[in-house]
Amino acid sequence: MFVDSAKIYIKAGDGGDGAVSFHREKYVAAGGPDGGDGGKGGDIVFKVDDNISNLIDFRYKKKYVAEKGQNGSSKNSFGKSAPDLVIKVPRGTVVKEISSGRILADMSSDEPVIIAHGGKGGRGNAHFATPTRQIPKFAKPGFKGDEYEVQLELKLIADVGLVGFPNVGKSTLISVVSAAKPKIANYHFTTLTPVLGVVKIEDGKSFVMADIPGLIEGASEGVGLGHEFLRHVERCRLIVHVVDVSGIEGRDPIEDFETINRELSNFSQELAEAPQIVAANKTDMASPEQTAKFKAYIDKLGLPYYEISAATTIGTKELTYGIWEELEKLPPVKKFEAQPLTKEELDAKLLTNKEFSVTVEDGVYFVEADWLYDILRTANMDDYSSLQYFQNVLVSSGVIAKLEEMGIDEGDTVAIFDFEFEYMR
Ligand code: GDP
Ligand code: MG
Repeated sequence: MFVDSAKIYIKAGDGGDGAVSFHREKYVAAGGPDGGDGGKGGDIVFKVDDNISNLIDFRYKKKYVAEKGQNGSSKNSFGKSAPDLVIKVPRGTVVKEISSGRILADMSSDEPVIIAHGGKGGRGNAHFATPTRQIPKFAKPGFKGDEYEVQLELKLIADVGLVGFPNVGKSTLISVVSAAKPKIANYHFTTLTPVLGVVKIEDGKSFVMADIPGLIEGASEGVGLGHEFLRHVERCRLIVHVVDVSGIEGRDPIEDFETINRELSNFSQELAEAPQIVAANKTDMASPEQTAKFKAYIDKLGLPYYEISAATTIGTKELTYGIWEELEKLPPVKKFEAQPLTKEELDAKLLTNKEFSVTVEDGVYFVEADWLYDILRTANMDDYSSLQYFQNVLVSSGVIAKLEEMGIDEGDTVAIFDFEFEYMR
């Protein structure tokens, strides 16, 4: 079975907890605090593996949780960071966050990508000693690791995609111009799996061709197999539209051509506008009149046109040269850009979910909220406008009001994760 989409849950490791501990030594009654920090939680990292061709593994294993960082311990020893959890995916896998639909990564190059960041370790009590607070009996828990429900979508990476009705000869064509060996048979939907083949033109010149399973009318509405596979054409730089000019199956080549193009545009306007080359196949069985009529029609549209007989390989070499020439004029294979949250989206997130908690420990006001952590992590507190933005957030979310309600005084310390500041009215 060829599986090209899957939903999985990923969770990066939480940070290890900070330790509460006091230095002990002979003859020293009570030493200072020496609880170390927790270690960082493991990241969730995605990496391309070319030995994997589809997403079937993710239908069976749907939950990926990286380890928690080690807790800190006494004598200022820091907990160890947890190892990354590496998830291997086939080349061309696009990772999307389900809740927002935004693209987190397009795994089409060899570069590993961190999709979910492990939480930082919590701080040990050694950090919380001040001249007025010499025996801090508290430490902080580790921060939460990112978690996402993600949609994995495999969008194969090919320069050229073959499209056309079932049985027009797409699989036959790819099998004669490349080393790919798809199933070929005289019945519809023999190709249930997109097949990639490398077409070598001559020394160093080659391109990747994808045989996309047959489209039929209604494919973009989910009839037949086409819809599911159309996403694989999305990345292609060029579409080779294969048509059976012999009309051996009782259909009209011109109608076929128009139907398939309608399906492509129903699926995506971008796809409809993608450059196309027409391969008129089965010319060995077509009458000269049939072929001429179809050629006249395509010529009027001004598309590059090639007559071939895939079964006997007549004209296929010329077609591959023609494809190469077109490809040389086109930009490289499409890569989907990751879509980070914009400032507006961050703000919107803020407005919908601004729960927080404030606890007072030894005169320090600890403010905790996941959304604040997100903002803090991306803010640069040395930058004046960042700092101002952060202050505005504290006011608009009600954090400042809450602190005042709890009786905070000028000069008291406010701790928000690992950012501390003195309160000023
Ligand atoms: P696909 O469904 O588009 O992949 O079509 P296939 O490549 O599986 O071919 C369908 C049938 O058409 C098979 O029986 C092929 O042998 C036949 N066929 C493919 N190309 C040609 C051709 O150029 N001439 C003739 N006569 N038959 C062909
Ligand atoms: Mg086929």
